Amino acid sequence: MSEGARPRPGDDSPGDASATQRLPPEEKRVFALVGNPNSGKTTLFNALTGMRQKVGNYPGVTVERKEGTCISQHGKELLVIDLPGAYSLNARSPDEEVLRDVLLGRRDDTPRPDVVICVIDASNPERNLYLTSQVLELGLPVIIALNMTDIAEARNLRIDARAMGEALGVPVVPMRANVREGIPALRIAMSRHDLPVSHHKVELPEDVAALLERFGHGDNRAALYLLDEEAAREGAAADWENRLIADRYAAIQNVCDHAIRDSDTGAATPTDRIDAFLLHKVWGWVALLGILGSLFVVIFSVANIPMGWIESAFALAGDGVRAAMPEGDLRDLITDGVLAGVEGVLIFLPQILIMFFFLGLMEDTGYMSRVAFIMDRLMAKVGLSGKSTVPLLSSYACAIPGVMGARTIPGAKDRLITIMVAPFASCTARLPVYILMIGLLVPPGKIPALTLGLYVLGTLGIFVFAAIFNRVIKRTKSSPPIMELPSYKAPSWKSILLHMWDRSKIFVRRAGTIILGISILLWALETYPKSDSEDDAVQSEQSYAGRLGKAIEPVIAPLGFDSKIGVGLLASFAAREVFVSAMSIAYSVDEEDDASGEQLREKLRQAKRSDGSPVFTPLTCLSLLVFFVFALQCMSTVAIVRRETNSWRWALFQLAYMTGFAYLASLLVYQGGRLLGFS
Ligand code: GDP
Ligand code: MG
Repeated sequence: MSEGARPRPGDDSPGDASATQRLPPEEKRVFALVGNPNSGKTTLFNALTGMRQKVGNYPGVTVERKEGTCISQHGKELLVIDLPGAYSLNARSPDEEVLRDVLLGRRDDTPRPDVVICVIDASNPERNLYLTSQVLELGLPVIIALNMTDIAEARNLRIDARAMGEALGVPVVPMRANVREGIPALRIAMSRHDLPVSHHKVELPEDVAALLERFGHGDNRAALYLLDEEAAREGAAADWENRLIADRYAAIQNVCDHAIRDSDTGAATPTDRIDAFLLHKVWGWVALLGILGSLFVVIFSVANIPMGWIESAFALAGDGVRAAMPEGDLRDLITDGVLAGVEGVLIFLPQILIMFFFLGLMEDTGYMSRVAFIMDRLMAKVGLSGKSTVPLLSSYACAIPGVMGARTIPGAKDRLITIMVAPFASCTARLPVYILMIGLLVPPGKIPALTLGLYVLGTLGIFVFAAIFNRVIKRTKSSPPIMELPSYKAPSWKSILLHMWDRSKIFVRRAGTIILGISILLWALETYPKSDSEDDAVQSEQSYAGRLGKAIEPVIAPLGFDSKIGVGLLASFAAREVFVSAMSIAYSVDEEDDASGEQLREKLRQAKRSDGSPVFTPLTCLSLLVFFVFALQCMSTVAIVRRETNSWRWALFQLAYMTGFAYLASLLVYQGGRLLGFS
C-alpha cells in the first residue's frame, strides 16, 4: 500500500534542531480520527485542536471532513482530521466510502493519514472493536483512544488498557474526551515516532485469500475493501464480507476476554431500565407524543415573553427613526421597508430557538436514536428504514441538515427517497407563515392545535410520497441497517447552547441579508413609480409590485390568492419567511405604527379586493397554508439537493413535483371549499 502514501515528513531529517520550526503544511504528520458514530471523535477533535464546532449525537452530523492542528510534545504542528463515523470499512454508505478512501489514500482532497487514532466507546467494546479490527489490518500505525471510560465504569465494565494494548500490539489510551481526561497522554502517544503497526490479523477463509491472490494483492488486507469494485469490473461478484464477520467477532472476543475484568454485564444498567419504558410498545409512543406535545406547548407559551420584547424594541426603533428623520421616502424605506420586513421575521427567533433546544436535547441525551427505533416499523411500511428517521426528524428544524444527514443511510435508493421527501417536514422557516395565517383563522387559544395539524399534514406528505417513490424507483444493493442505541447521558448544556447560538447567528444573518435585501426590493416595488393620487389603493395598483401581481394573478387566482399575495409568494421562493415580511411591507405602506403579530393580522383582516370583498377569507388562508405545507420554497434546499444527489435533474424534479403538488392541493382546497359553499 506504499504507493498511496505521501513522502514522510522530515521528522528524522538531520539538522532539524529547532523544535518549534514550522513545517510547510504538506509536511505535517497527519492523524485521522476513526470510529463508530457517537464514540466521541468530534469531542476528541475539539479537545485536541481547540477548534469549535457542533457536537451532535446522531449519525449525520459529522458528515463533512474537519481538520485542525494540534501541537506535539516537541512543538511541531500535527494535522488532525475528523473522519465520518462508520461501523465498518465495507463502504455501504457514502460516509463509509469517504472513510475507506481516505484510509486507503484514494482521495485527492485528503492526504493519506500517517497515523490512525481509533476512537472506541469503552461501554460497548465488542461492537466498536469491529471497525478497529479492520483498521488494524491496514498496515498503518494505530493509537487506540479508549473513550467514555466513565460510562463503561458506571456499567461495571472495567477494561484493562494495558492488556488490550498487548493483545492488539498498539498503544491504548483510556480517556474521557468530554472532560479532557486522557488528552495529555494521547498527545504524548501522538508525538512518538516509533508508533507500532499492529500484528492483529483475522485469518481469511481460503477462497477469500484466493480471491485476493487472484487480483494480485497477496495478503494486503486494504485490498479487501476494493474487491467488490474490482470483481464488478470483471462482471463477477466478490462475496466475501459476510463470511468474515464471525471470525472477526471471534478474534475480538478473544481480545475482550484478555482485557475486560470484573465484567458484570448481566445486571440491568440505568439505560436498560429507561429503555424498558421509552421503547415500550405502548408507553414508548405515549412518551414520544407527550414530548412532542410539550414541545408545542412551550413554543407557543414561553416564547411569547421574549417575542413581546422584540416587538417593543422594534416599535421603539420605529418611533426613534420617525422622531429623528424628516418625512420622506428615506424614512419610509427605513420604517416600512427595513424595520417592518426584518421584524416580521426576527420576531420568530424565540420559537425557533426553543425548537432547536428541544431537538438538541433529544440528540444529546441519546433519545433521538430511540425515536428512530420506535419509528422503524412505521417507516418500513413505506419502504424506508429507521435510519431515515433521524435525517427526516432533523428536517423539521431545517431541510438542509436533514438532506445532508441522509448520507449516513445505507443504500442509494433509501437515501434518494429520504432526500426527495425530507422538505415536506415543516421546517422552522414555515412557522412564521403558519402562525401569521392561522391567527387569521382561529382565536389565539386554538393556534397550537391547528399548527400541529399542519405538521401532521406535512408528515403525511412524507409518508405518501415515500411510498410512491418506493414503488417507482429501482432498488439498488443495500444491507440491513445496524440500529444503534447509545446509552443515555446527561445532556451537555454547553454544546446545546453553542448549537443554538450557531443557529441563531445563521437565522439573524438571514434576516440581515436575504430578508433585508428582499424587503428593500419589495418596498421599492410597492413604492415606485409614484402615482399622483393620495389613494393607497391606486398607488398599490400602479406600482411595479402591483403590475407584477396583476401579471401572475391568472395563475394564482384559482387558489384564492390576489396580486399582493402573489408578490409575497414569488418572494417566498427565496426563503419562506420572506412571505411574512412581504405582507408586513405590502400592508404597512403609509402606516404610522409597526406591523407585526396582531397588528399585521388586523391589517390583513381589513384588506379588500377590488370588488370590496375581504382578501383573507378563511378559505384563502387555508389554501395558502396548504400551499406552504407542500411547496418547496427554498433556494438553499435546491442547491444542497443538487450537491447531495450530484444531479440538477433530481433537484429540479423535486422543486417541480413538490410545488406542483402544493398547487394542486391548494386548488383542491379552494375550489372544493367554494363548491361546498364556504368562502
Ligand atoms: P462522534 O459522533 O464520534 O463525533 O461523537 P461526539 O464527539 O459527537 O460525541 C457524542 C456524545 O458523547 C457527545 O454528547 C459528547 O459530549 C459525549 N462524549 C464524548 N466523550 C465522552 C466521554 O468520554 N464520556 C461521556 N460521558 N460522554 C462523552
Ligand atoms: Mg462527530
